[in-house]
Amino acid sequence: MIIVMSPGATEQHIDGVVKKIKEYGCEANISRGVERTIIGAIGDERAIDQELIDALPGVEQSMHVVKPYKIVAREWHKENTIVDIKGVPLGGNTVQVIAGPCSVETQQQMDDSAKYVKEAGCRLMRGGAFKPRTSPYSFQGKGVEGLEMFRKAADAKGLPIVTELMDVRMLDTFMEWDVDVIQIGTRNMQNFDLLKEVGRVKKPVILKRGMSATISEWLMAAEYIAAAGNHNIIFCERGIRTFETYYRNVLDVTAIPVLKKETHLPVIVDPSHAGGKAWMVPALSRAAVAAGADGLLIEMHPTPCEAWCDADQALTPGELKTLMAELGGIAKILGRDI
Ligand code: PEP
Ligand code: MN
Repeated sequence: MIIVMSPGATEQHIDGVVKKIKEYGCEANISRGVERTIIGAIGDERAIDQELIDALPGVEQSMHVVKPYKIVAREWHKENTIVDIKGVPLGGNTVQVIAGPCSVETQQQMDDSAKYVKEAGCRLMRGGAFKPRTSPYSFQGKGVEGLEMFRKAADAKGLPIVTELMDVRMLDTFMEWDVDVIQIGTRNMQNFDLLKEVGRVKKPVILKRGMSATISEWLMAAEYIAAAGNHNIIFCERGIRTFETYYRNVLDVTAIPVLKKETHLPVIVDPSHAGGKAWMVPALSRAAVAAGADGLLIEMHPTPCEAWCDADQALTPGELKTLMAELGGIAKILGRDI
């Protein structure tokens, strides 16, 4: 940590900072300039509470020099991490497309969806059994019955399943149904108790970006999961809130290279909840793969106009197939496959 003292700081102020640094188990390196004194805290500076340093008399400002996140940072782990999802690698050379309906509706709908996901060449399937809806009067998901339908449909096609966990009380049920990837939705990105609990299991976790979360808040949220013991984390950019109202959210493509620089963990993109319209999904998917995303999370419904949730943004099975072929071409240029 670097602490810049104000021009009027006295020797007593400097001594006060040095004493505080030592309390945290660090050594102080004092550099006296003509106008100011700068103090360097040497050692494990993560333990130092910046707010307490800033509050000391004579301190102008302080800054940490190492990242506040540790396990998820590329600084500490140079190689890309590949998350293994029942034998399907995510984060390696292959771009993985996770497709399926917004929500689980009926057994027939899930059986048909699984068939189309497989036929399009995707290796993982999505579907929500517990839905976070803006209105309490909207369809809330089929719940445990939905997990059962999903498991049955996906197992018939050998597809690992991705589904959202909203309530920590359902975690044991998710384990019983052997959910392959636990999705933490945008509204729960900073539900720290939920993050700690999914950190205690070994299941891969897709951590969606909070709709107004900064990159640093997102990385710290992932650190919660990692610090509890689960390092199988996948970041998912799903669009952020801005002043624009034309589309549902703004897909932050910039977040892809930034996250790839900051973390060794896989980064995927959900173009469906970003654009909010099916016709935008192909363009946003192409942009995401071109920018280096390790995968996509795409909503597809056997008959989108009959979907119980997010009908407007679901691709048809045919559109998913066409998109997969296009993405294959982009991946190839980048030396990847799909
Ligand atoms: C979803 O993927 O079903 C979903 C609700 O997404 P988000 O949390 O990004 O809104
Ligand atoms: Mn949806």
